[in-house]
Amino acid sequence: APERDLVRIVIVGHVDHGKSTLIGRLLHETNALPDGKLEMLQDVSRRRGMPFEWSFLLDALQTERDQGITIDTSQIRFATEARDFILIDAPGHVEFLRNMVTGAAQADAAVLMVDAAEGVREQTRRHGFLLHLLGVRQVIAVVNKMDRVGYAEDVFRAIESELTAYLAGLGIAPSQVIPISAREGDFVASRSGSLGWFDGPTVIEALDLTRAARPSAELGLRFPVQAVYKFDERRILAGRIETGRLNVGDDIVFVPSGAQARVKSLEAWPANDTSTAGAGRSIGITLDRPIFVARGDVGCLPAARAKTARQLKARVFWLGAEPLIAGREVTVRLATASAPATVSSIDSVIDTEILATAAATRIERNQVGEITLDLPRPIAADAHTVNPVLGRFVIEIDRRIAGGGILMSVTESAAVRA
Ligand code: GDP
Repeated sequence: APERDLVRIVIVGHVDHGKSTLIGRLLHETNALPDGKLEMLQDVSRRRGMPFEWSFLLDALQTERDQGITIDTSQIRFATEARDFILIDAPGHVEFLRNMVTGAAQADAAVLMVDAAEGVREQTRRHGFLLHLLGVRQVIAVVNKMDRVGYAEDVFRAIESELTAYLAGLGIAPSQVIPISAREGDFVASRSGSLGWFDGPTVIEALDLTRAARPSAELGLRFPVQAVYKFDERRILAGRIETGRLNVGDDIVFVPSGAQARVKSLEAWPANDTSTAGAGRSIGITLDRPIFVARGDVGCLPAARAKTARQLKARVFWLGAEPLIAGREVTVRLATASAPATVSSIDSVIDTEILATAAATRIERNQVGEITLDLPRPIAADAHTVNPVLGRFVIEIDRRIAGGGILMSVTESAAVRA
């Protein structure tokens, strides 16, 4: 049988626009729920004289998790005909945005929801912006609660054009924009007469077309060193090939030190030697010469090496309790490297409502802005457009994640101070 893609998805959108309802419905329609669970909850609602809510399912799963009975709601699984899915984090979860921003929960695809009666809202835009910032390119947009607007096509079309215009400004073209009623079930798993004017796919059909983001073999080699081990005189550099390919006999240069050697052997786990390894593989390598290599260094092919970055211009989503200002000392975590840095300037703040940048001296919590970081000691980095893996980073203050973002440009020269 062909291998099934495992796709990591997030469901985002303004609070109350129906994310939990869609998730509950998706779990039900794909038979992902334990037997009798739905009936039990419907029964409880009836006895209490309150209307059944699909979000009760998530609450029930969460309660069971807290009691150690079942699954983690931050990692709910379900499967459609063609794909397996891991739903990353539940809406409303406190750490949701932080998880997304820090890339701890890097998603392959996203569903962006808008309430048909409320239209595109500030949070809708901000979440759309986050998808852009995180590099999530596969986006399915859904206009939910079509039952609240009498299933009117003109309401749908107006929201569709507003949303696609906004996303286009971010370089995101949603694969589909689908009118649905998560509560009634229209166009989640099956077509519906009420939306007879719509000839696109259901949400599940659209999900079937998503793909797991593949580690990119076309990009240059980036091998961030995780650890250096010594086994009876042999020194093994362990890490994951994030992009590109590495062969025995290749010359490999480590950034930022510039130390170069030839690859003597590649060892994959479980123990077997191989002559070549591509993106996504965790491997160990040995070299023909003893050169100094440490965790955080990134192995590259000499012809297309990462930059020895001393200055970073970045777009960040700020989560810190205190606003970010120039002069702030932070820790930058990028791939396996961790390095001190100083915010040398706040360059702008981005108004995610209208996608305009404005001059600013501080970035408040939950704002997106552009900053310049100076590094006293260089690290290996790439502009996000050159290599997304080495173009993404997290900022820590006092060992707590305070923001994250992407690198717009990377300079090798030492920072010049005014
Ligand atoms: P979330 O905050 O985005 O997770 O939103 P919920 O899933 O909790 O939904 C918020 C409210 O909208 C709940 O009362 C749902 O029953 C209601 N809702 C969700 N989907 C629909 C829908 O398709 N039609 C209608 N009329 N109400 C819905």
